[in-house]
Amino acid sequence: MTNELVLLQTIRPIWTHRVLQSLARGAGLREGLRNQLDQFFNLLEEAVETGDPAWLDSVIEIWATSLTQTDLEGGTSNLTRLMGELMVHTHEVCRETLDEAQGQTLMGALLPCFSHAFEKAAQAENQVKMAFLSNELADVRQSLEKLDRSKSDFISVAAHELRTPLTLIEGYAAMLEESLEQEAAKGTEAQLIRGIHHGTRRLHSIIDDMIDVSLIDNNMLTLNHQPVWVNRLLAVLSEEVRSTLSDRNLSLNLADFEGSNEMIFGDPERLLQLLRNVLTNAIKFTPDGGQIWIDGRKLPGFLEITIHDSGIGIDQEDQSTIFDKFSRLGDPSLHSSGKTKFKGGGPGLGLHIAKGIVEAHNGAIWVDSPGYDEKKFPGSTFHILLPIQQEPPDEKMARIFSSLHTTSSSERKTQPYETF
Ligand code: ADP
Repeated sequence: MTNELVLLQTIRPIWTHRVLQSLARGAGLREGLRNQLDQFFNLLEEAVETGDPAWLDSVIEIWATSLTQTDLEGGTSNLTRLMGELMVHTHEVCRETLDEAQGQTLMGALLPCFSHAFEKAAQAENQVKMAFLSNELADVRQSLEKLDRSKSDFISVAAHELRTPLTLIEGYAAMLEESLEQEAAKGTEAQLIRGIHHGTRRLHSIIDDMIDVSLIDNNMLTLNHQPVWVNRLLAVLSEEVRSTLSDRNLSLNLADFEGSNEMIFGDPERLLQLLRNVLTNAIKFTPDGGQIWIDGRKLPGFLEITIHDSGIGIDQEDQSTIFDKFSRLGDPSLHSSGKTKFKGGGPGLGLHIAKGIVEAHNGAIWVDSPGYDEKKFPGSTFHILLPIQQEPPDEKMARIFSSLHTTSSSERKTQPYETF
């Protein structure tokens, strides 16, 4: 055994105690660090014994890879700083424990080890930081690509969805103009005006959806918290869809579940919109003659509403992406158009808006379905989880939102809140 190694072993217990006290506050942390310091010191002994500082590389690499996200995001070099601290402590312990000559001998043997360790630490840390940054870059690139895709999706959806009703309106308006000029065409005006009205309503709802999406995506969806009874919302909704259900020969089974008659706080108009979007999809993706069930249950702190249909179902892999915007599945050109026709096409915004509304209420929405099958109709079940809030989240904010909301809600032409 060399003299340097003997000296190194002499300072080991004091060195370990000193470094532990200085680096780790708290007994739990100290225990974890003790093993790592032991490992470092074992390798330091090997390096001094063999004269090869590369013995330290493995432990330095491990330390570099265990740098945390915060370490990597910060600009300072944490690993080289740690090496610096280890060297200062070593020097101090040498001075206090050994005589001058012994101290110089040991530090002489340790200096090449520490200078190698500094270099290695800087290198390893840079490598880890580079890997971290290139991951970050890949994430940014991915979100830019997603944004790009969603921009071009937006353009194609806008082109298709906005152009269709516009063409319709133009056609009816031209026919109306003709009918006013030609005696023979008289008498069809009422029907043509109905056509124009239908087209403008469709345009209006698509534009409303687009505005809602941009409010949600920019975290600007404000809620007008009011007392809400879920069973009343569901009653309003089932009345709204009554004639559609009978046109399509669908039956809606609305259960009177526990908790649905209890008052909770939420934005009734937005909650109705959310339930409407999910129910309209259940109608759209269930063939004529099918069934839809609305049920639910009370959970600790939450109300769960389920909307289950006997429709075409949704593949497992699509069950999370359908909540992204423009996420209609399949070839859009194969969709027949119409809001409630079987497989009627839409802009693919309904579920994105539904998710935004639920999340603004601190709730959650998800779907389960055995899969997509247009022959067996396995059906889908949408789950909506709403927190049971017995008072508005913030009375003052609710008042501010309510005064802002009065204008926009009147534009949306829905029932007065008292209805719910
Ligand atoms: P869309 O305007 O196309 O209805 P949504 O966001 O409401 O947009 O729905 C996105 C897609 O999710 C739909 O196009 C459809 O493919 C699928 N989907 C939604 N609800 C159902 C359901 N109940 N059954 C089967 N597929 C559904």
